[in-house]
Amino acid sequence: MLYFIAIKAEKGNPVLPQIRNVTEEELAAQRAVMARVAEENAARSAQPLAWVDTYGCQQNESDSEKLRGMLREMGYAFTEQEAEADLIVVNTCAVRGHAELRALGNVGALSHTKRAKPEQKIVLCGCMVQQEHMREKIKNSFPYVDLVFGTNELWRFPELLERMLAPHRGRIFEARQIDGERFEGLPVERAGSVRAWLPIMSGCNNFCSYCVVPYVRGRERSRSPEVILAEAEKLIAEGYKEIFLLGQNVNSYGRDLGSREDFAWLLEQINALDGEFVIRFMTSHPKDATRRLFDTMASCPKVERHIHLPFQSGNDRVLRAMNRGYTGEIYREKVAYARSLMPDIAITSDVIVGFPGETDEEFEDTLRLVEDLRFDMLFTFLFSPRVGTPAAAMADPFTKEQKQARFDRLLQAQSVISTEMQAAHVGKTYRILIDGTGDKPGRLTARSSHNRLIHLEGGEDLIGAFRDARITDSTSWSLSAELIGKDGKEED
Ligand code: SAM
Ligand code: SF4
Repeated sequence: MLYFIAIKAEKGNPVLPQIRNVTEEELAAQRAVMARVAEENAARSAQPLAWVDTYGCQQNESDSEKLRGMLREMGYAFTEQEAEADLIVVNTCAVRGHAELRALGNVGALSHTKRAKPEQKIVLCGCMVQQEHMREKIKNSFPYVDLVFGTNELWRFPELLERMLAPHRGRIFEARQIDGERFEGLPVERAGSVRAWLPIMSGCNNFCSYCVVPYVRGRERSRSPEVILAEAEKLIAEGYKEIFLLGQNVNSYGRDLGSREDFAWLLEQINALDGEFVIRFMTSHPKDATRRLFDTMASCPKVERHIHLPFQSGNDRVLRAMNRGYTGEIYREKVAYARSLMPDIAITSDVIVGFPGETDEEFEDTLRLVEDLRFDMLFTFLFSPRVGTPAAAMADPFTKEQKQARFDRLLQAQSVISTEMQAAHVGKTYRILIDGTGDKPGRLTARSSHNRLIHLEGGEDLIGAFRDARITDSTSWSLSAELIGKDGKEED
């Protein structure tokens, strides 16, 4: 039934209620376009510059790596200066109103950049513009945007770009309303050298009543295990040290393939690959986080001791209205089981405050759950109504001020917990992965197995190295550490 909610969400678009594989011929046609555009760009007096601006989650970061990969193949170099860019691609998010407003505000500011450089091309893509009402808004209010394409058109980017670049073209808007397609083999230009995003699936079938993701990203599609394992092996061979598996609900990996190869199996397979690397994953839906998952985490040394397990609300009526598929008690049991196997596991979570109709008493259940379970970190969101979702149409007698007051209480409670949890790391020694430069010269950043952000001193040659470090200080957001040698003493 929920399925029909999804396909009715946008009227007037063709609906193909199936998932299909993009054919090799279709991908070859895109590669031919890339070669043509590259030839044209090579003939220009200067190499064209592109800027890809990304909003939202890691999935979007990963999609932007594909956009950059295709752009590189088409002869573009990259800049982060919008004024000098020949092409600006804004990869948008739709999860909350705030993300949309931010993207629209920045697109609004691009009108000045384009006035100063009229030949500049502006492209909008991603979740926000997969929504029909947002495309209408862009059509009417942002006349200088040249190309708009939705999430389903990612693999068609070369073709759409070529059409946009052709002389005397009108503006292009493309966003097929389909359940989703599987494709492989797009070029990828990775943003980092230590951490690599590895999407194992896309889309979502859960239809949490507040969430727009199933409407803008389509039905769940798992990538084949062979392709994922080959990509993981390649990343490890290329020197990546952290393989970050991505999916809206990684715990339902493989269901759509009808195979017995589930997410726990996948973790075991990647854990068994040779090399010095670690594995992280995101996100786990609590209803599908099984004992088998936690058993597997505990038995796989390369799987880091962290799980992001969004609970959203501590109240059972609200959880039902959210269509989450578990109760507060079930959630607590899962956390207790994970901690019984891995006492040092870090558990982080998401929570929504002010879901329509949530009463003060119901909010107290959320607060109690937070105080009882003591998350290492909590991402706290005020409910944001999303067009086309059931929750957006639910009655809500509570004011913004009432919701804000609850939100502030929750933030305050978590801030105390985070500060205490962080302080408990001080004096301990952890194996850390050094992953980048810090805020000042000579400073580096790293992550512990618990995914704590760590600041330390050291040279850039250490980036990508696993080292032992002693935690010397903490704030509610980060830790400070010093490297220690094999003898347990601080390194020079
Ligand atoms: N699939 C992941 C999951 O189930 O946790 C991520 C979904 S979403 C990108 C990340 C978080 O945004 C959710 O866990 C939820 O807390 C929050 N969120 C989603 N829709 C929201 C809405 N309409 N209003 C406020 N927060 C929302
Ligand atoms: Fe949204 Fe729920 Fe799917 Fe997460 S599991 S993407 S919150 S519908």
